[in-house]
Amino acid sequence: MATWHDFLKSEGTPPEWPYPIRYEKETELETDVLVLGGGIAGCWAAISAARQGAKVILMEKGDVSRSGAGGPGCDHWCNVPANPLSRVDPDEWALRMMEAEGPYSNGIGIEIQCREDYDTLLEMEQMGGKIRDTDDEFVGAEGRDEKTKFMLSPRYGVTPVNYPHPDWQKPGFNPPEERNNVVLRIWGSTFKPVLKKECRRLGVEVLDRVMATGLLNENGKQGARVVGAMGFNVRTGEFMIVKSRAVIISTAGSGQMWNLDMEHGGHSTMYSRNECGDGTAMAWRAGAVLTMMEGSVPYRIASGLKHKWYTGGCDASYENVQLVDNNNKKLPAPTQGWKDGGAMFSLAADIVAEIREGIKKGRYELPFYGDFAGMKPEESKATWNLMLSEESTTRAMVQSMTEGGFDPTRDQIMNYTYMEFQPSQQYRDAARGGGIMVDWDLKTTLDGLYAAGTSMFSPEDHSFAAATGRYAGRKAAAYIKSVEQGAVCRGQIDAEKDRIYAPVRREEGIEWKELHNGLCRIMQYFAGEFKTETTLNIALEEIERLEKEYVPQLYALDPHKLMRSVEDLSLIQYARIMLTAMKERKASLPELNFDRLDYPEAPKEEKDKYLTLRLVDGKVEFDRIPIRFWGNMKEQYEAHNADYTGVYKPENEERKG
Ligand SMILES: Cc1cc2nc3c(=O)[nH]c(=O)nc-3n(C[C@H](O)[C@H](O)[C@H](O)COP(=O)(O)OP(=O)(O)OC[C@H]3O[C@@H](n4cnc5c(N)ncnc54)[C@H](O)[C@@H]3O)c2cc1C
Repeated sequence: MATWHDFLKSEGTPPEWPYPIRYEKETELETDVLVLGGGIAGCWAAISAARQGAKVILMEKGDVSRSGAGGPGCDHWCNVPANPLSRVDPDEWALRMMEAEGPYSNGIGIEIQCREDYDTLLEMEQMGGKIRDTDDEFVGAEGRDEKTKFMLSPRYGVTPVNYPHPDWQKPGFNPPEERNNVVLRIWGSTFKPVLKKECRRLGVEVLDRVMATGLLNENGKQGARVVGAMGFNVRTGEFMIVKSRAVIISTAGSGQMWNLDMEHGGHSTMYSRNECGDGTAMAWRAGAVLTMMEGSVPYRIASGLKHKWYTGGCDASYENVQLVDNNNKKLPAPTQGWKDGGAMFSLAADIVAEIREGIKKGRYELPFYGDFAGMKPEESKATWNLMLSEESTTRAMVQSMTEGGFDPTRDQIMNYTYMEFQPSQQYRDAARGGGIMVDWDLKTTLDGLYAAGTSMFSPEDHSFAAATGRYAGRKAAAYIKSVEQGAVCRGQIDAEKDRIYAPVRREEGIEWKELHNGLCRIMQYFAGEFKTETTLNIALEEIERLEKEYVPQLYALDPHKLMRSVEDLSLIQYARIMLTAMKERKASLPELNFDRLDYPEAPKEEKDKYLTLRLVDGKVEFDRIPIRFWGNMKEQYEAHNADYTGVYKPENEERKG
């Protein structure tokens, strides 16, 4: 018995598929703006384009109400320097964040985030999202402002991230005690459902359970203007063609290339399972420029291979909880956090080294605990009932532990960071870093195509995705005023149908999981921590073998498995692009976690440039673009947004018929 399919077929009792099967049947739609991916960036893009009067279609692989990394929630609205409690100037803060993120940051997106994040948050409140402690649940907790009822985050202070300094890792370094108040704690589990509701209220046509698979270039010519996209319904298999005057890609990036873990929490609880590089791969095939594709990072928290719960005393949402050892001895040394709370970013190298040494020498006894009991009750409640309850997947853990009797004012939680210690280098992520190149309009290098959120190169977090989505929607809605609908090409549609339906046109073969695992093995062995010309050549040869020998055997029994199969094709393409970039980059760049043993140095002409690549007539063209290519962030933002009107005023709404 070769596969599960074979078993089902031989037994003659495959479970009945609950939806009608309509493979190959076509539905054609037309719109002004088509948004691909209804996560955080996509919803905001759709809403903002619709508010500008555009007719909008939103295509989402899952269900918009909870899909994507931000679907279940979020507890930190980061980088909101325009909030009334902030003590910093938004433009200065943007500059500082851009610098702090290192040479390969996204200054365009960060400036947009710092300028428009507060407006975006207020619009979230207008829609019904909860952003303030209006029920007075957390009175007495530090960071709660009585007047605005905003809950500042413990991330108020100076950190290695927002205050880059060469001496951070030197013992005894004393950073300035500067309070910035740029991060707010919010009730992010309320956000996604209200975003979907607002889409519907504005007349956005929401296509849930439709996977976008390919872009349509004008007259089918690669590199030409983008005039729509194709996809299929992951329940019925029906093919969708959407013609549109502008397309926004917000399908996020790609995880899962180094690891497919069916037993633990899937690939990673830090990214959505739907993030398979589909959008990046389709932009590539259409001829868009990508960058930073050589970078990858080892899994940190929350993958199937690391403990899921945040680790306390240093990590998001649990960062203000002091870590103690088995004898209740405090671990060193918070670099920030509430006065009597714990630490954040205590993962600074010197502190990690000190704790590690302390374990070896018996100064600290394992296991360690997050000391909720040692906090002021107001603080532990805010951490438990707001931060951990709102931050996405941690909500389920809060629920089950509460049901099991955990009391955050009395108990401690075991911490696993220092037992698991360093991540395994062969399990890596590409999900944040590489992506689509954009300009100050968040337009890609292709006419008619925009990108937002994690789909862009060097993305940030939830509020970055929200603010850039909102911005891209506005810009796409302005663009369509100057263009007519472009001509699509039947040949491009037929070729896409052949590509995606191949697995259901076969009677037998291999399943998506086998193919996916094959890809992961290649990446683990030949594109792990260390790379050389030889290992990268082997990886590319192996990818070619996958494509030639195994992709033609890919077989899907139902539309869901077809979705997973087509995702594999995106992942393979994404991996090939990454390996191609890794081979071209003949330098080691620690900022991208990119270590080429055969080129340990980084000459200036490599270090100071983004490596870009694009597909032209089947061949890869490389280029190098200077870092900070966006110019003066404040000036450029202002030059491109003289007409920006701030927070949306529902009374001015231009409703379409
Ligand atoms: C556990 C967890 C906690 C987090 N906590 C915070 C936090 O507190 N603060 C913070 O700032 N950030 C947080 N983040 C990160 C934040 O959620 C992401 O930065 C944000 O969701 C990125 O938005 P996005 O729109 O780029 O991607 P997503 O929100 O992931 O949206 C991408 C969407 O595209 C869809 N899609 C993918 N492929 C296709 C396709 N081919 N066709 C159609 N649709 C497709 C997906 O289904 C998904 O809905 C957290 C993330 C996780 C997982």
